[in-house]
Amino acid sequence: MSQVFSRLLWLLALVALFLLGSEFARPLFRPATIQRVLVVAAALLVWAYINGQWIFVRFHDLRAGLRVRSLPEADPFTTSDTVLIIAPHPDDETLAAGGQIQTALAAGAQVFVLFLTCGDGFEWNSMVLERTPLPSASEMLKLGERRIDEALEAAAVLGLPLDNLIFLGYPDGGLMRLFLNHYIHPYLSPYTRVNTVPYDRAHRFGAHYTGKNLERDLSDVITRIAPTIVYAPSPKDAHRDHRAAAYLAMRLQGERHEENAVRYYIVHGAYEYPLPKGYFPTLPLYPPPRGRGLSWRRVSITPAQVRRKAEAICKHRTQVMVMRRFLLAFARPNELWSATAIPIRETIYPVEQGDLAVVALEEDTDLIEEGQLDAGGV
Ligand SMILES: [Zn+2]
Repeated sequence: MSQVFSRLLWLLALVALFLLGSEFARPLFRPATIQRVLVVAAALLVWAYINGQWIFVRFHDLRAGLRVRSLPEADPFTTSDTVLIIAPHPDDETLAAGGQIQTALAAGAQVFVLFLTCGDGFEWNSMVLERTPLPSASEMLKLGERRIDEALEAAAVLGLPLDNLIFLGYPDGGLMRLFLNHYIHPYLSPYTRVNTVPYDRAHRFGAHYTGKNLERDLSDVITRIAPTIVYAPSPKDAHRDHRAAAYLAMRLQGERHEENAVRYYIVHGAYEYPLPKGYFPTLPLYPPPRGRGLSWRRVSITPAQVRRKAEAICKHRTQVMVMRRFLLAFARPNELWSATAIPIRETIYPVEQGDLAVVALEEDTDLIEEGQLDAGGV
């Protein structure tokens, strides 16, 4: 509610500025000129707000500082910890936990990163890289290979042993479909035009793209590593691959009766999260709008670790090329994770009151918006 209120205030402030400016400028310029100037000024203010320019950097600092200071600090890692970070795409591990990977290693913990896909479905990325409006299937596979190399380079910067990186090689942009439609029958990636894991370096080269295989591979890795802490995307993340990864992590950890070992993170948090865009190594990282109501913990990162995290982010060169300011906005003096997968409010509502039905309806609305469900068929 407070977010709606603050957005409303911003809108009112912009309208007031527009009207005031019109009044003052009326004797000097023609009305059409005034309107053009004010529209440009309003656009400039929005740009400055998003990118933390001028006074807005102080505003973001104060606002995020207030919100982050009240969060409890997470317990430190110990030598007996074995950490597994589940990343839907190469770069998620660095964005969500690049600082924690360093603190865990410094504390003597073991850290493993598991990539569900190799990021071979990001067409816009391939268009820019290959300078072509229609990237071919082989160019998309080349992008996947490049992103594996970049993940290895980023891990080396963070101090991770490269043997601790596991690539499953499932289809980028298709993880949800593996569970909804292709649990048994193979899925054909519309980007790479393959229906089996195509990367030599992958955990199981040649495995069919099915939900069953993905589940089995992840289960194999979890059994082998026996993590005491698992980082997984939150089911509240805006990206479908991330939500599919959340489902998988919850399901497998639940079967092992180790659901309390999961720490949920959000990368795609809505409303241009995280603001401001760009490299601001001293501004706190605040909980994302989509993560409202989750039980967030903060993990403090030293300035040297923030610099190293930014350096690791820059190793994901194909990504930096198309969204540099979004990626670098994660290099902040703290990281965040939630101990709960969904807002606490939603977990305590009794079924008899029918509130769970409301929650379920909200989730379905998400799916309808994404074209996953037919509105008439729910
Ligand atoms: Zn991702």
